[in-house]
Amino acid sequence: MPGRSLADLLAALGLFLEPDVQERVEWLGEELLRWNRTHNLTAITDPVAVREKHLADSLTLLPLLGNARRLLDLGSGAGFPALPVKIARPDLDVVSIDAVGKKVVFQRHVARVLKLAGFTAVHGRAEDLPKTPLCGAGFDLVTARALGSLPMLARLAEPLLAPGGRLIAMKGAEGVSELTAGQADLLARGFACTAQHRLQLPVSGAERCLLVLEKTG
Ligand code: SAH
Repeated sequence: MPGRSLADLLAALGLFLEPDVQERVEWLGEELLRWNRTHNLTAITDPVAVREKHLADSLTLLPLLGNARRLLDLGSGAGFPALPVKIARPDLDVVSIDAVGKKVVFQRHVARVLKLAGFTAVHGRAEDLPKTPLCGAGFDLVTARALGSLPMLARLAEPLLAPGGRLIAMKGAEGVSELTAGQADLLARGFACTAQHRLQLPVSGAERCLLVLEKTG
């Protein structure tokens, strides 16, 4: 059984954060639990599970960010993966969107306390984002965790991505079969799967599959 500190969980996933960054990510987990007592933001309430399933799981994106400058997190909930990624990579411009107001209020609170410059949490529906100035010339990376089927994610992400931009769908074990089933639909929308990363979370053993879809045409 690996250790259960955030550092141990990250190490088991081949990840490392500088101590000051790690401290900020840990504070996010603690603040989520504090707010959750009164605001019901997440079903995960065990501190180790928060570290594993919200913090460490979100950070598995880090090696896949490439040279992205503008990241959009769809259906971000209480800010996952958007907030841990922004804390670890403050140079990234991050926009997150969620349809539930109290979750967005939590994200804004965290961004304020941690003084995250270049982090915008939007209360609204992903479908409405392409019409807004925030979308601009498009994002070069769109992420989504636990939001919907691959074809649905591709439909939402397509108008929001700059040409050559990537959608990273953070899935469980079902990701592989979803990809097979959705292949034709994804191709028709101009997406090609350029990478699949499978991993296992160190405490629960839960399987994860990160699917990287590039908007080619
Ligand atoms: N990504 C977060 C939350 C997943 S739950 C995490 O992994 O912890 C899915 C979230 O998507 C919910 O918070 C819900 O409010 C939001 N959502 C669902 N459909 C949406 C849409 N069309 N536009 C914006 N948010 C949406």
